[in-house]
Amino acid sequence: MSAAYVTRREHFSAAHRLHNPAWDEGKNERVFDKCNNAAGHGHNYILDVTVAGQIDPDTGYVIDVKLLSRIIHERVLDKVDHKHLNVDVDFMRGLNPTVENIAVGIWNELQPHIPAGKLYRIVLHETEKNSVEYMGE
Ligand SMILES: [Zn+2]
Repeated sequence: MSAAYVTRREHFSAAHRLHNPAWDEGKNERVFDKCNNAAGHGHNYILDVTVAGQIDPDTGYVIDVKLLSRIIHERVLDKVDHKHLNVDVDFMRGLNPTVENIAVGIWNELQPHIPAGKLYRIVLHETEKNSVEYMGE
């Protein structure tokens, strides 16, 4: 059997505000700059989810990408698309929604629902220039 890595790309749009409630307004502005804007701002995120595993000799798949897409939609996209990450999203509650923290949150949402041990990496692109890769602890 051969191993392979399968990646599914999905998109979502969401708003957020970078803010640390333990700091005063001045420090929040200095550290987070425009991303501290009180009413928030939006991004069109691109999410790449990679699953690793052996190619099944019967199907020729590591994972059925239709199943992978459904898991991503149910566990992540339905919760974040067209939402405000600071207020609407259960798995981001109490976290500063940086692209790093969103990537970890998405990993934790997906991991229990991907067939055993197969979630390999997620890459979350916040802008054309900025992305975060997360591969678990
Ligand atoms: Zn932003």
